[in-house]
Amino acid sequence: MFSEKDLQELLEFKTDHPVLSVYLNTDPSQGTADAFKPRLRSMLKDVELQDDVEKVEQYVDFEFDWSGRGVALFSCAPENFFRFFSIAVPIRDRVRISERPHVKPLADILDFYGGYGVAVVDKIDSRLFHFHLGEILKESEISGESVRRTKRGGGSQAQGRRGGTAGQTNYTQEVAERNIKDAAEFAAKFFTENNVRRVLIGGTDENVNAFRSHLPKAWQSLVVGTFPISKNANQVEIMDRAIEVGYEAERLKQTRLVQMIVTSEAKGQAGVIDLEDTLNAVHDGRIQTLVIRDGYRAPGYRCQGCGYLTTEMLSSCPFCENEFEKITDAVELAVRRVMRDGGEVEVLRDIEVEQEFDQVGALLRY
Ligand SMILES: [Zn+2]
Repeated sequence: MFSEKDLQELLEFKTDHPVLSVYLNTDPSQGTADAFKPRLRSMLKDVELQDDVEKVEQYVDFEFDWSGRGVALFSCAPENFFRFFSIAVPIRDRVRISERPHVKPLADILDFYGGYGVAVVDKIDSRLFHFHLGEILKESEISGESVRRTKRGGGSQAQGRRGGTAGQTNYTQEVAERNIKDAAEFAAKFFTENNVRRVLIGGTDENVNAFRSHLPKAWQSLVVGTFPISKNANQVEIMDRAIEVGYEAERLKQTRLVQMIVTSEAKGQAGVIDLEDTLNAVHDGRIQTLVIRDGYRAPGYRCQGCGYLTTEMLSSCPFCENEFEKITDAVELAVRRVMRDGGEVEVLRDIEVEQEFDQVGALLRY
């Protein structure tokens, strides 16, 4: 299971040798191993890193269990470095040879599908899921008191009221409220234990709202979506709904982020929407959130002294006076640097955003 920790390891991997990064889509709905293996071979046919190609092919041929819908592989044979991650969400085929592992697609997947806590709330029993990159990693359930009046009558405050129905309703509501409150408290613990970063709540409107209001404030702010679902829904239905709602929430977040960047830039505040300005902000360590369109690449130059990235051909670095080298993709390097510095990276996938926003931009730290 690919985690934030794995991403950090890949980001920190340093070498003087080229690294082969391979992403292979193995979605079972699109074929079988017999079809994917030759496709992998044709993807790798022009790669000259023989040892790495062998390592990757050997893994896919003999060790890969074909679980999930894709696999990401990183190989640097001279360093004896080989990592593979089975991925349960769809990925696009690609091969990269670069001086570091090509992590952008994985970072993107973590951003879209990582760290979800899902609660399916009901008046009696509530179910909780920790779900990460399209897989349920943990499930838990909390059972409340039955909302029907028990034979002993429980601790109902309905005593003395006239008319059984009103009393019954009151009692039922009271127990349901208490059950949901307990479930919310239980959920907060569950989310904390599983390092959940965002929360989805499923159930009837009434139950969802009650649950939400009983969540601690910190967790309320991490609720990214809610959805109606039957309390008897199975795991697959819950996960499908959660992915859908989570994905939409992520897109909405991105749309707003781009709006904010464009507005800030227009006002001369903390936004940039141009590659050169973005690279300068990267160098200054000022990027809070870097936003790029999926698949965007741009050649550039990198200072061999301080690593300053630019699209302009300069004779020497304005910061350290060292010479520049030409690089095939300044965007990838910028992404890596931002992630390493603890900034966020958002990759826009088929999403309509402001016209002013072209391929890249960023929200800056003040
Ligand atoms: Zn420099």
